[in-house]
Amino acid sequence: MDQTFIILKPSTIARCLVGDVLTRFQRKGLLIAGIKMMCLDEAILREHYAHLVDRPFFPSLLHSMTATPVIVAVLRGKNAVEVVRAMTGATNCRNAAPGTIRGDFGMSGQENIIHASDSPENAEIEINRFFRPEEIFDYTLAGIGSIYAPDELD
Ligand code: UDP
Ligand code: MG
Repeated sequence: MDQTFIILKPSTIARCLVGDVLTRFQRKGLLIAGIKMMCLDEAILREHYAHLVDRPFFPSLLHSMTATPVIVAVLRGKNAVEVVRAMTGATNCRNAAPGTIRGDFGMSGQENIIHASDSPENAEIEINRFFRPEEIFDYTLAGIGSIYAPDELD
């Protein structure tokens, strides 16, 4: 099974939407393989958002991402990266399609509820950046046989 990485951003914590967002992933059939609350600092955000450090909005993004603790999680499922990105929606919540998390819960480009890894390669890097191996658990959902057909389980 594939794994992806998400951050429930300070906008989600401050607006008490943690349960609503996590429920969507659980209803979809994704397994929570690891989850914890943590405070992000400038060093980890400069790594995580390395592609954005030179953008004019980076100081504002840094301020936003350190406003409260966040919840980081590893989600497991078939094609998890692609499935979770599709559920996340476009970066700017105002452009995100209804039915996506950003489309349903936000109005902002910056305060956009959730981070989700954009490729399997980045998912692996991000999981290793935020989790120790022993914080990720290997178990199976009781309903796994109703979530996937036998030939979809690898
Ligand atoms: N962001 C922003 N303004 C922009 C572009 C991005 O504030 O013009 C923030 C936003 O919170 C976004 C994060 O920077 O989620 C990372 O940007 P990226 O382009 O990687 O978008 P994502 O992968 O989160 O959709
Ligand atoms: Mg991104």
